[in-house]
Amino acid sequence: MRADPLWREPVAHLARVQPDTAVMYFCPAVLQATARRFRAGFDGLVTYAVKANPRAEVLENLVAAGIGAFDVASPEEMRAVRAVLPDAVLHYNNPVRSSDEVAFGISMGVASWSVDCAGELDKLAGVPRTAEVSVRLALPVAGAAYDFGEKFGADAEGAVRLLRRVAEMGFVPSMTFHPGTQCTDANAWAAYIHACAEVARRADVRLARLNVGGGFAAHRAGAQGPDLEAVFARIRGEVNAAFGAAAPALVCEPGRAMVNDAFTLAARVKALRKCRAVFINDGIYGGLAELRDIAQGDRVSVHAPGGAQRVGPRAPRVVYGPTCDSLDRLPDPVALPDDLAEGDYLLFHGQGAYSLAIATRFNGYGPGAPVTVARL
Ligand SMILES: *Cc1c(COP(=O)(O)O)cnc(C)c1O
Repeated sequence: MRADPLWREPVAHLARVQPDTAVMYFCPAVLQATARRFRAGFDGLVTYAVKANPRAEVLENLVAAGIGAFDVASPEEMRAVRAVLPDAVLHYNNPVRSSDEVAFGISMGVASWSVDCAGELDKLAGVPRTAEVSVRLALPVAGAAYDFGEKFGADAEGAVRLLRRVAEMGFVPSMTFHPGTQCTDANAWAAYIHACAEVARRADVRLARLNVGGGFAAHRAGAQGPDLEAVFARIRGEVNAAFGAAAPALVCEPGRAMVNDAFTLAARVKALRKCRAVFINDGIYGGLAELRDIAQGDRVSVHAPGGAQRVGPRAPRVVYGPTCDSLDRLPDPVALPDDLAEGDYLLFHGQGAYSLAIATRFNGYGPGAPVTVARL
């Protein structure tokens, strides 16, 4: 599957190779374990939101761990998935599509489509009636790092009308929502589940499935990651309470929580300034792009070039990226050990989601192809 050598762990590679460019380390074992955790704990179909990290080695390892259905947003993502798994089930849950994109989705045999307005449902007239159409609901709920309801989703009134039309048109009627990414409050799922049950009741349509979205929180700070099993149990409990005997089958589509922990980014200290600012060789145009939109967390370890961990007392320091753009600075100061030295490596743990997917090569920087490791 991969040609590059398998290293024991990132520090073994750093100490030996002493790379002077940013390196993303990928651990297939962690990714597969996370996929199995979702499959064991979530009482429904687990799909993967490809946009979080669309690299072939990610898709391949998810397939190896039993994931066969994928949330795709574009023709390119459909091709990427089918290249790895020719009979992959495609859920096309970007609710705004050009008519050419709809035609492409039909040609790929998309199994499930989401909609949030009548105009988008009209565009699906040529879709075979064996397909599922999920009405996407938006609520003003809190709990996530940023809100997905601002851009997509019908309000309850609109959702009732759409769901009736989906059923009248002969599609398999379902509903979906997304509580917002890095959602740390399970009350968001509870609110959506009850609101979907209410929409279905008012529309007088029995839902085939309920897709509870992505949004599951990844481990960004502290010693312990989020208790996903507690969220899964809450979701099941709320679905049973809200729908009773008419409970639909469940689907989830994690992106971030699936792939976050399988990658660690190493960036090297290029220079230390007297003002205590630190310059490193990756930043917001590369593997740390998402830090502009989401809080940094504290999962950063520091290693000397020989591999030894720096354990001095930590204090916050301003960190600049490598490009000649003054915006290239991490939004929040990073707590770094006082024995930090030029040539050291900062390891940003849990960097698999929305990193390689959005990294640029601006100014000739940005991480290259990931290096595979046996553990992180
Ligand atoms: C982005 C997205 C996801 C994945 O969200 P995460 O917060 O990364 O889990 C799932 N479903 C849809 C429709 C999305 O747009």
